[in-house]
Amino acid sequence: LTDRLQGAFDKLTSKGKLQESDVDLALREVRIALMEADVNLKVAKQFINQIKEKISEQRALESLTPAQQIIQVVHQELVSLLGSDQCKLETASTPPTIYMLVGLQGSGKTTTAAKLALYLRKQGARPLLVAADIYRPAAIKQLQTLGGSLNIPVYSEGTSVPPENIATNAIDFAKQSSLTHVILDTAGRLHIDEAMMAELVRVRDKVSPTEILLVVDAMTGQEAVKVAEQFHNTLGVTGVIMTKLDGDARGGAALSIRAVTGVPIKMIGTGERPDAFEPLIPDRLASRILGLGDMLTLIERAQAEFDERKAKELERKMRTATFTLEDFYEQLQTMKRMGPLSQLLEMLPGVGSAIRRQDLQIDDRELKKVEAIILSMTPEERQHPEIIKGSRRRRIAAGSGTTVADVNALLNQFNQMQKMMKQITSGRIPKLPGLFG
Ligand code: GDP
Ligand code: MG
Repeated sequence: LTDRLQGAFDKLTSKGKLQESDVDLALREVRIALMEADVNLKVAKQFINQIKEKISEQRALESLTPAQQIIQVVHQELVSLLGSDQCKLETASTPPTIYMLVGLQGSGKTTTAAKLALYLRKQGARPLLVAADIYRPAAIKQLQTLGGSLNIPVYSEGTSVPPENIATNAIDFAKQSSLTHVILDTAGRLHIDEAMMAELVRVRDKVSPTEILLVVDAMTGQEAVKVAEQFHNTLGVTGVIMTKLDGDARGGAALSIRAVTGVPIKMIGTGERPDAFEPLIPDRLASRILGLGDMLTLIERAQAEFDERKAKELERKMRTATFTLEDFYEQLQTMKRMGPLSQLLEMLPGVGSAIRRQDLQIDDRELKKVEAIILSMTPEERQHPEIIKGSRRRRIAAGSGTTVADVNALLNQFNQMQKMMKQITSGRIPKLPGLFG
């Protein structure tokens, strides 16, 4: 969620009942967020109108706070627009299943063909890759190299046989070799032209593919919608594969493509490696489009685990500085129930992609260590950590499988925390070094 949108929602939470003007304000922000994510204007407007209706229907429900109400409705609607279920790839009743990949040059067809083959093989299929791009010898070589590295057979007949003939010969070959899936990698151009479309139509009519899968590059944003419309009008596309969703693209084009053409997005590409390929999960893409991360899941889990009574008690303890290692341990347990730390961090907006991009490995080992140390203490030690001196430290380290240095580090940290709380609660807020010069 953009800061702006978050701000609008924050204002709503502080109010009581939902006013018409509140809804309008929040929905304006939602519309801006959608457009920033490459959703086209017409689709965004339609979407906002649907949301408005849903919200007035739900108005009567007193159990939801206004902000939650809007976030939930927006999210639900995005999911249902993307297709509330995972859209599975069709399989032919008699093998081989034929997938014809189409799209502009550079959209990721050849890479996706290999990814798809690998994905199918992992599910027990025996796929065949077919080089039907006869205009660029390099394209044939690219597919052969990819197939070779994955140990998947590649059918090719060079550059002088018409693609529709290559395709039919490949299908015969697949039948003879009892291969289950044929993946056709077709030629693309930088722009759609009639000759390209005519060629694709010939291939389609000759082989009657099980699915015609349009490969589109998420980074091309709104342009992808036009491309999808044109391909769909001429060829009748049955599914879309959206590539390069590992980049900064928020994927709003997927929503527009779905809304404009009605064709479901079936799979997504999330990197250059052959295994960076997965089925589209509408729920996740919806969150990504709004920049929500998996915020909703996070909020839900947090609410379930951290009921108000506990929070109040914790606040009291902090105020009176009677927060002990026992409480600290309990906090850790709450965090654990909410899921591994790295998973939690990934769910926060902006953080997830940062972690993936830098390949940062945030593991839970540190947390486990802290937990083990506290568990090795006696209840008295947990209440009064100041009694933990040399011999006790050695015993705790041995008992928890850590070192005395680990135990020292934990006690120091805890000590600092307590000091800070005392200062804060007594009104003397510590100056943070580095801030304000
Ligand atoms: P084609 O012309 O449609 O066959 O496109 P290619 O398969 O040759 O892909 C064009 C470029 O996009 C290549 O450099 C690929 O590595 C890259 N590519 C394809 N899919 C993805 C993806 O999901 N993520 C990223 N980051 N790059 C991709
Ligand atoms: Mg290619």
